Amino acid sequence: MIVAIDGPAGAGKSTVARTVARRLGVAYLDTGAMYRAITWLARERAVAPSDAAALAALARDFPIEIEPTDDGDRVRVDGRDVTREIRMPEVAADVSEVSAHPGVRDEVVAAQRALLAEGSWVSDGRDVGSVVCPHADVKVFLTATLEERARRRRADLARRGVEVDEATILEDVRRRDHLDSTRATSPLRVAEGAIVIDSSDLEADDVADLVVQLVRDLGDGSV
Ligand code: C5P
Repeated sequence: MIVAIDGPAGAGKSTVARTVARRLGVAYLDTGAMYRAITWLARERAVAPSDAAALAALARDFPIEIEPTDDGDRVRVDGRDVTREIRMPEVAADVSEVSAHPGVRDEVVAAQRALLAEGSWVSDGRDVGSVVCPHADVKVFLTATLEERARRRRADLARRGVEVDEATILEDVRRRDHLDSTRATSPLRVAEGAIVIDSSDLEADDVADLVVQLVRDLGDGSV
């Protein structure tokens, strides 16, 4: 059983996806963390975010390890734990350019499909319901106003100990919205069969309730 939750930055996808996964007792995959890990590695190795061939080679040669813990997912690449580093504003600034290269996406999508092939999962990102898992059992497109998403992103970073001013966050979210929805390969869009939820006036728990109900409505006893 696969639940795919896609949508723009800051819509609350990861909070909702994590809650739904916990309530259903299934695994959670944050697909954005994988693009962030490649972006971190590229910065570390001085590979430019525009260098499609070098970035695809990094994605091919350095598998990203994701280990779920009670404390959230641990992300490792090239033997380093980069869980915290991948949330830094420098990584956020480059990740949409890095993730737009078809060669990078081919590698990352193949790794994601291999993970999702076994067992039940809740996964969030931009293209889980449209490209990675078009056959997902439940597809949700979660969105919210730009201002609300920027506010949440800032609060989320502050919880992780990263302080960024409001204008910078708003600009980052706006830029990534634009890049993610206009790129040629797998642009952010509402997948066929997805249910659109606007979370601007909803708490994450209420959105999670809605998604859990969609799963229960499947009624096939798969969870
Ligand atoms: O979800 P998060 O904000 O961590 O994702 C970081 C970036 O990774 C997005 O802005 C997008 O450019 C890219 N991404 C993607 N496809 C996904 C998940 C994330 O292109 N499935």
